[in-house]
Amino acid sequence: MKKLYKKSSLPFLCLALILTSCKVQKDVASFEAMNTFMTVQTYGKKASVTNEEIKEKIKDLENHLSTTIKDSDIYRINDNSGSYIDVKQETIELIDFAKSMAEKTDGALNPALYPVIKAWGFTTGNYRVPDDEEIKELLSHTDYSKILIQDEKIKIDEKMMIDLGAIGKGYAGDCAIEIMKKNGISSALMDLGGNVQALGVKPDGSEWTIGIKDPLGKGAVAAIKIKDKAVITSGGYERYFTENGKTYIHIFDGNSGYPVENDLLSVSIVCNSGIYGDALSTSLFVMGSEKAHEFWNKHKDFDAILITKDNKIIYTNNIGDKISILSTFDQIEIWK
Ligand code: AMP
Ligand code: MG
Repeated sequence: MKKLYKKSSLPFLCLALILTSCKVQKDVASFEAMNTFMTVQTYGKKASVTNEEIKEKIKDLENHLSTTIKDSDIYRINDNSGSYIDVKQETIELIDFAKSMAEKTDGALNPALYPVIKAWGFTTGNYRVPDDEEIKELLSHTDYSKILIQDEKIKIDEKMMIDLGAIGKGYAGDCAIEIMKKNGISSALMDLGGNVQALGVKPDGSEWTIGIKDPLGKGAVAAIKIKDKAVITSGGYERYFTENGKTYIHIFDGNSGYPVENDLLSVSIVCNSGIYGDALSTSLFVMGSEKAHEFWNKHKDFDAILITKDNKIIYTNNIGDKISILSTFDQIEIWK
């Protein structure tokens, strides 16, 4: 009988067959939600059903957390300020978390700042610079201690409005990780509009490499290797408008009612939880590098990478062996 293969090629053929049959299935879902573009890359047998489930969950979250979608929980709370409103337990838990982070950050994160943020046109798109009188009046309705929670009901002060924009994407990432785990997925990477979250390591066993975006241009200024972590970034470059030559960014200082103006261009938080990282990236950006340093010294339950306006990169010691610097900085500072 005619030989089909040379004897010596048989082992290679078997190996190729084994590798093909073991090849991990991959599904990439890209979609728009929460005013941003999201990509979820999932590996494993149930990759595609998992991504479908994640997409549905994130759209559902958007539908009850959006400030602008009529009938969302947040919209109804804002529209009925002064009265107790029934909302989903999940919404209550998120508002409760935001309130606790407001206390922890001494108001750097303030979920009740929406009257001010809205007046500047963020989230609605009607950008304008309000005058000082108007800002002062609006600021008097932003006291987060006046968000009251009772069982499944919530009440905010009259004329107050809340916004979970600073934590929503991080929470969505945590929900996605839960869905993945439930479906037996052990390897995935997602980018939810600049919020990166990884489950496990790459299918080949190596860590994921995440770029830290150049806040002033394209490309990355640093890269970090991660496993089972969230890398959440806040920066003025993400959303802003310009009027009379001045740029106004989407992250606000709750003391002044003006967009944040300090020494920072971006803050990336590296930690285990998406929602905590998201709350912290916004908070540390509002604080500026000095207060952010004090805050990190006090808590030390997360890592951070900060890029400053004077071309300095700051990072926490714990991630020193995971970071590669890809750009030329005038100074590198390591927090220990
Ligand atoms: P992030 O991109 O996670 O830093 O969140 C920014 C979004 O959070 C903004 O688009 C606003 O909707 C909202 N926001 C802005 N400033 C603050 C603040 N100081 N505290 C809480 N939310 C804020
Ligand atoms: Mg945030």
